[in-house]
Amino acid sequence: MLAFKILIDRLKGGHTLKIEEALDPSFLGPEEPELLFKTKVTVKGETYLTDDHLIIHLKAHTKVLIPCAICNQMTEKDLEIDNFYYTEPIEEIRGAVFDYSEALREALLIELPRTVECNGGKCPERAIIAPFLRAEARTDKTTHLPFADLDDIK
Ligand SMILES: [Zn+2]
Repeated sequence: MLAFKILIDRLKGGHTLKIEEALDPSFLGPEEPELLFKTKVTVKGETYLTDDHLIIHLKAHTKVLIPCAICNQMTEKDLEIDNFYYTEPIEEIRGAVFDYSEALREALLIELPRTVECNGGKCPERAIIAPFLRAEARTDKTTHLPFADLDDIK
């Protein structure tokens, strides 16, 4: 089987094909320059046809490198999908070959963590910047005061 390509003819007659691949992660990026995908994307699952749809059902796993939110050190995080379930109307598949890379890419990117902290969530620089974080929190409170002033104007 070609990477990401499902040959529809091979599914006709009720055949279910196993998908088990380790795919080059280059299809995932670069979406944003600070994200790095260097680990192969492993996919495992199956694909088959219903009367009018192609069904793809698989698990996927890879790793992503994201800068730590505090110290900026590149931090590796698992990225996985337990239940990727994709359907495509057969009549919309051109040339009897369906490429699921775009669908898989979108599904994986949705799973990206919004922020990452190195060292398993205990960034060594957290202690250094903690006092500043607290100071920021105090400043936030004072910024709400202008609204109180608005109330006084009434
Ligand atoms: Zn860090």
